[in-house]
Amino acid sequence: MNQQCELCEKEVHGELGVFDGEIGGIGIVVIEEISKRNWILCDGCNVLVCHACCTRPETGYCNACIDRYKLNFDEEGRLVD
Ligand SMILES: [Zn+2]
Ligand SMILES: [Zn+2]
Repeated sequence: MNQQCELCEKEVHGELGVFDGEIGGIGIVVIEEISKRNWILCDGCNVLVCHACCTRPETGYCNACIDRYKLNFDEEGRLVD
């Protein structure tokens, strides 16, 4: 099934894979990019948006959530208080 942006309804490309990993002997779940993505799944509202519809895709949040929660990020896209 093809996924599409929930804002502009354009088809999106690239996917994430879930792998089993280990850090210091503790099993963890690792999520990695299998192919280059042009979309994000917003950490705030779980909406799927393409990079064209999002001003700060590297942050993992959609524009609506950045506005709603007045989120601030540093240059690398990390959330700052
Ligand atoms: Zn879009
Ligand atoms: Zn959102």
